[in-house]
Amino acid sequence: MRRSTRRRRTVSAYREGDRTVVLIPARMSEAEEQRWVRVMLDKLAAQESKRVLGDAELAERAERLSGQYFDGRARPASVRWVTNQNTRWGSCTPSEGSIRLSHRLQGMPEYVVDYVLLHELAHLLVPGHGPRFWRLLEAYPRTERARGYLEGVVAADRLPRVPGARSE
Ligand SMILES: [Zn+2]
Repeated sequence: MRRSTRRRRTVSAYREGDRTVVLIPARMSEAEEQRWVRVMLDKLAAQESKRVLGDAELAERAERLSGQYFDGRARPASVRWVTNQNTRWGSCTPSEGSIRLSHRLQGMPEYVVDYVLLHELAHLLVPGHGPRFWRLLEAYPRTERARGYLEGVVAADRLPRVPGARSE
């Protein structure tokens, strides 16, 4: 935390290596300061969770999820974002071990992206959506919540944008 005599009203925060710097006006009280530090930390965390993962990070994430939920048995050869996939959130070609996620997932909550990744990883182990498939996904505690979120997004897309006019 840095107090600045030049700063009169504004508070700002940024990361500097592994530290977080919060700039606070010099005259702020201790209590106000505490409150602002919390607010700014939440704000930074929210910004960072919206940050888009690169393909390399996506592959790392897939490996971690596979280890955590499938004992590392699902081993994709490639995991990447694609922009040509508008009707499906993710897809998987088991013969190639490739997983593709729709760019439309970017900016959605982490647990939703993780669910879609895990879903495609599960297809490397079990094709189709039979009971064996869903039993695998039961290990992930947010399966239902993530499916609900995605259903909500689809439903919202179908809502007419102009009252009285249908977009379809
Ligand atoms: Zn599927």
